[in-house]
Amino acid sequence: MIIAKARAVDGPDQQFRSAEIKRRDLDTSDVLIEIKYAGICHSDIHTAHGDWGPVNYPLVPGHEIAGIVTDVGTGVSKYKVGDRVGVGCMVDSCGECDNCRKGEEQYCLKGNIQTYAGVDKYGEPTQGGYSTHIVVTEDFVVRIPDNITLDAAAPLLCAGITTYSPLHHWGAGPGKKVAVVGMGGLGHMAVKIAHAMGAEVTVLSQSLSKKEDGLQFGAAHYYATSEPETFEKLAGSFDLMINTVSASIDINAYLSLLTLDGTIVNVGAPAEPLSVQVFSLIGHRRSFAGSMIGGIRETQEMLDFCAEHNIAPNIEVISADQIDEAYKRVLASDVKYRFVIDTSTI
Ligand code: NAP
Ligand code: ZN
Repeated sequence: MIIAKARAVDGPDQQFRSAEIKRRDLDTSDVLIEIKYAGICHSDIHTAHGDWGPVNYPLVPGHEIAGIVTDVGTGVSKYKVGDRVGVGCMVDSCGECDNCRKGEEQYCLKGNIQTYAGVDKYGEPTQGGYSTHIVVTEDFVVRIPDNITLDAAAPLLCAGITTYSPLHHWGAGPGKKVAVVGMGGLGHMAVKIAHAMGAEVTVLSQSLSKKEDGLQFGAAHYYATSEPETFEKLAGSFDLMINTVSASIDINAYLSLLTLDGTIVNVGAPAEPLSVQVFSLIGHRRSFAGSMIGGIRETQEMLDFCAEHNIAPNIEVISADQIDEAYKRVLASDVKYRFVIDTSTI
């Protein structure tokens, strides 16, 4: 048994506290990772606050994990001690269903095992990356390219793959007009990645306060959704829209911005439903879709793509004592553009 230091929360209205958690002894295929950095995803906040339903507390969130391999099980072949590695939103899946065999483990028909707030195959609750160590089966570990620093790598493990996967799947590239709705952690990665894929990128943000950043990340256009004329001006414009907003929005207003056969992909995961008027869809053969993270193979592909295109998130590194304050700032859309915990401060 390995005892790791962690930061845990005991209820929706509680503050984070120091904790010790158990990590299992290494099974043959397991890798022990000393976590160096853990990103703060809005999903951590939804989960900690119970937005998506009841959670077993104490909860240690964190699914944007970057660190160093410090031990390996006897059957591990892909990693060795000293390797720079990452772990994202899932730590296991059945490995046998159609979706797992396709490399889409996030859509495992038996349900993938989430990095935190899940139950692993040993029947133990999973605890995430706001901690010093984690044990993960090697098939759910990815390699961090040498030219990406570990602090910047962490947010790629969720924000990066969650935006790369739909952009790739729906063919963002030259000649395609892509809009990114909401420019927070996911949104700013969507802008950088879509631009690197060759698409013409537009940001739709609540205000123009982050316009300079958006243009610097690669957007060609930037509009405020608080201005009603934005929706008139952009009607019928976009082939693909990635909605990263963490709250419920008037999705019909956004659907009206799609061109013939255009698609909005929802990656934002508000607790409240989004009400779609069918006429928003049938008028121009539009689609309203969703997407969840990406598979392990695709996550490695995304990391290699980011390394090749020199893409990294804009981060603010914080100490473990600042987690509560960081949550408040994320909820106020006051994050540029991802908080990353330096786990040496845990
Ligand atoms: P974030 O950093 O808080 O970014 C969300 C952005 O949405 C904000 O920066 C803000 O952008 C905009 N926004 C927030 N509240 C809004 C409101 N009331 N009306 C309009 N716009 C609003 O969060 P994140 O970490 O990127 O995560 C975004 C969402 O994706 C969360 O719901 C999260 O749970 C979900 N998520 C889903 C997956 C998946 O697999 N599908 C993976 C990770 C996260 P502006 O300031 O630019 O307007
Ligand atoms: Zn996430």
